[in-house]
Amino acid sequence: MKIEILAIGSELLTPSFVDTNSLELTRRLNDLGLDVVRKTIVGDEAEEIAACVREAVRRADVLIIMGGLGPTEDDKTREACAAALNRPLLYKAEIYESIRERFLRRGRDLPPSNAKQAFVLEGADILPNPNGTAPGQRLVEGGCEIVLLPGPPKELLPMFEDAVWPRLRARGHGSTGRRVLKITGLGESDVDTRIADLYPPPGPLRLTILSSLGQIELHVTEFSAEKEAALFPKLESLAAKLLDRLGDFVYSAAGEDLETVVGRLLKAGGATLACAESCSGGLLSGRVTSVPGSSAYFKEGFVTYANEAKIRALGVPGDLIASRGAVSGEVAGAMAEGARRAAGADYALAVTGIAGPDGGTPDKPVGLVFTALSWKGGLETHRSIFIGRRDQIRFQAAQKALDILRRRLSRPEGT
Ligand code: AMP
Ligand code: MG
Repeated sequence: MKIEILAIGSELLTPSFVDTNSLELTRRLNDLGLDVVRKTIVGDEAEEIAACVREAVRRADVLIIMGGLGPTEDDKTREACAAALNRPLLYKAEIYESIRERFLRRGRDLPPSNAKQAFVLEGADILPNPNGTAPGQRLVEGGCEIVLLPGPPKELLPMFEDAVWPRLRARGHGSTGRRVLKITGLGESDVDTRIADLYPPPGPLRLTILSSLGQIELHVTEFSAEKEAALFPKLESLAAKLLDRLGDFVYSAAGEDLETVVGRLLKAGGATLACAESCSGGLLSGRVTSVPGSSAYFKEGFVTYANEAKIRALGVPGDLIASRGAVSGEVAGAMAEGARRAAGADYALAVTGIAGPDGGTPDKPVGLVFTALSWKGGLETHRSIFIGRRDQIRFQAAQKALDILRRRLSRPEGT
């Protein structure tokens, strides 16, 4: 089945707006084992839209058109489809009434511009929109099923779930199982070397490697001919092999964030955490507290940028800073111990480094970061050199700190 998506809206052609709808739709179509063969983005220009529709209808079995169904002057999808498909737009009193009622419920009159939303293409079924005024439409042209949906995600996504996805599932061939393994502490080529002989996997399996800042994701999917497969045995067996190869570099086999995994481990152990940050400027504490329920384990964050702050708030000895420098393993360790003491926490992480772009020296280059973890039984410090822009170095520093804690918390008692 050839499925195409046509996203309409001039904002989608600017540098400040991303077509996120098509990503959501593609994900749900992939769940059915269906691929999107082509995506097009076109601005709010009736003739351009009509040309796209004409071409796509000739190629596709299913064409999902989204956006441009609003009430304003720049919403041209209805008119453009009418021109492309050579079908008149028909006025539907029931749509007009339901839009009018929506406004009345909020104590407002129907603005005249909304009246155009009551027009549908001849022969189209109306798809109700419980979250907005623009209804969707469905029609068949030649061998192509065309669906028109409004652009706002909170309107489009429920309509897709209710009116489009179930029908495609009925027409479709099967279902897809998915596993996301998340890895940190290994480079892309290290991951590749470890799993090279498993890649690409055979037949119904698919393996994608996605590398991003400070982490790598492996997406494994298995296509099943069953419409609602409960089990994906080949997928599980491949995931187990990957886990075996990558060991404890995998921090989640269920697609979770590192901060979520660390939070779960802290909670399970009934332990608390404090953070002392220099170059990461609060990013680490921010990530820890972005997890719902983190108040159960997060005690306090110290953003100690100045030397004087490290001395006053964390009790880092001034002569240690003078002799070793603020960016040093010794100071990172003293920050972690000081934060643990000051906050009365079971664990404390510390980060100090040179995020750049200035401030590097041959001895201590931009990207040099020391991370430390203090706990009741001891102290560990790590030296890393990260590459990238300032924000990228800061993110990797926080990632490294979280990973040190994850590894410590995952160890069996007393090791
Ligand atoms: P519409 O009036 O139907 O053209 O769409 C109105 C709003 O929906 C736009 O201003 C966007 O905020 C949002 N929108 C439209 N298309 C998309 C898209 N492809 N992805 C995400 N949001 C979209
Ligand atoms: Mg628009």
